[in-house]
Amino acid sequence: MTTPRQLYSLQEFDLALDRIDSEKADAETELGSGGGAVAVETALESEQQTLEEVRTMHREQQADAEGQRQRSTELDRQLYDGEITDPQVLEDLQREANNVRNLLQDRDTRLMELSLKAEESRNRCSELEQRIAEIHTAWETRSAQLNKIIDELAPQREAVWAERGVLAQTLEPVSLQKYEMLRKAKGGTAVAKVERGLCQACRMSLPTRQHQQVKSGRQTVNCSSCGRILCQG
Ligand SMILES: [Zn+2]
Repeated sequence: MTTPRQLYSLQEFDLALDRIDSEKADAETELGSGGGAVAVETALESEQQTLEEVRTMHREQQADAEGQRQRSTELDRQLYDGEITDPQVLEDLQREANNVRNLLQDRDTRLMELSLKAEESRNRCSELEQRIAEIHTAWETRSAQLNKIIDELAPQREAVWAERGVLAQTLEPVSLQKYEMLRKAKGGTAVAKVERGLCQACRMSLPTRQHQQVKSGRQTVNCSSCGRILCQG
């Protein structure tokens, strides 16, 4: 007959296998993440785009300001070279020259703002580039660690699996099947220890008769509350 204690030992192997599998899955997930550089790389791309936009605006404003400056020089020439003497025309010219000068001032202010913006953006790009370099350096170390963990888990798993196989061979197939089904249904634990009259899985108190049956260890008793196979602790 298969005793609850044997099933409990089998479960210890299975839980060890679960831990190994989960550790491997975690390591693989972390490896797949690439070290978290992606988010920073995306931020850098976005910042580089901003910088490019600011530079384009700066170029456009500069070309525009250049046009206004030429216009201003031309108006000043017309105003002061003495060729135009009509006071009305001179007055109109003067007004236009003032307008152009105001426009130029606005353009220059805008150009300064854009230069500042570009500088800030360049600084942010440098910070992000540095951050990415740091992440890549740290990732080289971490990914090597993770690969080592994964490599070491494989023989560990094989060893536990082999030991489990030896034990499983000594158990009755029907008991084994019941155990497997129960383990699947109960989130990984089919067998629960009983300590001080309590099922350690669901913390329910066992009736005295049931507790005595568990203590004898000669038959399979299931917890009346959670359904797990009970094993005296
Ligand atoms: Zn229970």
